[in-house]
Amino acid sequence: MQEEINEKSNYNACPCGCATRGGKGHSRGMGKLQLAIVGALFTINSYLMAEFFPTYEFAANLSAFIGAVILATPIIFEAIKDLYSGKLYMNELVAIAILAAFMGGSFQEAGIIGFFLLMTIIIESKTASGAQRSIEDLIKLTPDKVNRIIAGNEENINVSELSVGDIIRVRPGENFPVDGKIISGETTANQAPITGESIPVDKEINDEVFAGTQNLTGSVEIEVTKLGQETTLGKVQDMIMEAENIKSPIVRVIDKYASYYTPVILMLAAVTWIVFEDINRVITLFVIACPCAVVLATPTAIVAAVAASARLGILIKDIQNLELASKIKYIVFDKTGTLTKGILSVARLNPFEGHEPAELLLAAASVEQHSNHPTANALCELAKSAELSLNEISNFKEIHGKGVEGTVGNKRYLVGRLAWLNSLGLDIEDANRAEEDPDTHKMSLVYVAINDEIIGWVGFSDKVREETKGLLKELDDSNISYAMVTGDRTPVAMQIAKELGIEEVRSECLPEDKAAFVEDKKLSSIVAVVGDGVNDAPALAAGDLGIAMGAIGSDIAINSASIALMTNDLSRINLLIKLSKKSVFIINQNLIGGLIIVIMGICLSIFGVLTPIVGAILHSLSSVLVIFNSARLVRMGEEHS
Ligand code: ADP
Ligand code: MG
Repeated sequence: MQEEINEKSNYNACPCGCATRGGKGHSRGMGKLQLAIVGALFTINSYLMAEFFPTYEFAANLSAFIGAVILATPIIFEAIKDLYSGKLYMNELVAIAILAAFMGGSFQEAGIIGFFLLMTIIIESKTASGAQRSIEDLIKLTPDKVNRIIAGNEENINVSELSVGDIIRVRPGENFPVDGKIISGETTANQAPITGESIPVDKEINDEVFAGTQNLTGSVEIEVTKLGQETTLGKVQDMIMEAENIKSPIVRVIDKYASYYTPVILMLAAVTWIVFEDINRVITLFVIACPCAVVLATPTAIVAAVAASARLGILIKDIQNLELASKIKYIVFDKTGTLTKGILSVARLNPFEGHEPAELLLAAASVEQHSNHPTANALCELAKSAELSLNEISNFKEIHGKGVEGTVGNKRYLVGRLAWLNSLGLDIEDANRAEEDPDTHKMSLVYVAINDEIIGWVGFSDKVREETKGLLKELDDSNISYAMVTGDRTPVAMQIAKELGIEEVRSECLPEDKAAFVEDKKLSSIVAVVGDGVNDAPALAAGDLGIAMGAIGSDIAINSASIALMTNDLSRINLLIKLSKKSVFIINQNLIGGLIIVIMGICLSIFGVLTPIVGAILHSLSSVLVIFNSARLVRMGEEHS
């Protein structure tokens, strides 16, 4: 695992070699640091000797020479390596600067320049591995060893030896090593590392648990469902890895023209030399021309932003989507499970004449036991608390956005919306009366039919999420428009829209109608779609940005969306937009700042305003400023987790 991470995390960024081998840099960075310190001591020593023992001039010079050689060697080494691999990259510029300082005979100066350049390389390689550190933190969340149960016996094995379907035991206080399903015992789990929400979650038989989360109170047996990179935690790791290799358009331009850039700088240097015959100007030019700050501008900011989003339980699947989120002008919300809690409760069982409530519930719950829809969950909950034993269902089928069907014995059961039953040719006279009854206008209705006869309806009620109003208000403040789409009945949709102050509403939509609405909005705006992945996958995929809620453990949601919120906390949408806007702002700030320093620096050094040492300090300073500027993003939204 460790190897793999190191392999992937090549920063491959700055032309002058700073921050490049970020991943493997740890031990090498230390070596460089020691060289920098020893070299600096020799250089300082030479200054002290020149000051206090002016007669020992040779010794002072020797000390300066040794210091400069120690400091210059690693830099020149990098440059030669680049030359060998055919990269006419800008490592060479810095190396030439140092060599020029040597030839100028000023070893003290060469030492000081070398020191700053080397320190820049060290500092940058340390922060460049920021992504790697986040990943290491994530890896620490999963234990190496695990207790597998085979034939009633526990054996302690490496997690890497597990396969899907194995049974393992996890005790209180241990972290779950893999994603799995509880098959025995019950417990609570702290899922904060993935969702950013620290309130413990109850877990009982058949509930899912997730790699990297902590088992708090009970000892449980788990069947392994996902391993390694397939787990939710693995996906978060992938996101962070990807972040590191992002380049901004401007860096791509530099990459493309890198083979021109070096010759241009060399020519500028030659002209400067011919016109002014001043080696100091040439050295300064070489030092300042290396655009480290520009190259670091984007990846440092993105890594910081992604670290923040991982902490907030926001999984950004393709890093380009982070930037896109800052441009959202229109949001289409699904209703059930998104604006509302989606935890329905059965408000009314209404059998038609000749049928009993218990019969209605038994029929509905029996078919719905195989569905994941909020109505299905509500029916099964009620059946469970009424201690009904459900019928076996065969030929189960779910028609998305319409309903479910199945057979019991030789009878066909249908449970779903009226328009669907109507389209199948059922008699809907009684049902129509229910639809029009104002008493039902606050309820979502689902009809139950046995053998083509509708035997009654079930009314459900849902609640608006507490945070929905707050979010919509913040969207108003940021001039982002929004609409609600739903498969639910018009009266219910209107009710909710009124409660929330939403003006644009589409009700009684099929999944493809939702997608068509999104396509239409896309003609005039950048559109994000927010849904829970139940019957809105086509709409999520149609949006410029698809944001899935409550995605932890839901593969459909994670797969159909471009950004997945691990929790059900709708207010994270606002955090996401803020984080995205701030990232874009900081990246631009970094790029502009970096470019100004390089361009001004080149001009100033040609006209002899800057000395080589000041040039080296400016070079380091600009890179360090970029790094600190980016680091501001890491703390975004800390108050929410
Ligand atoms: P929403 O857009 O509000 O999330 P859906 O598209 O999921 O709603 O569903 C639309 C309608 O289709 C529901 O109101 C319900 O009447 C019906 N429906 C969908 N799936 C099911 C199901 N599994 N059981 C019963 N009815 C269903
Ligand atoms: Mg829905």
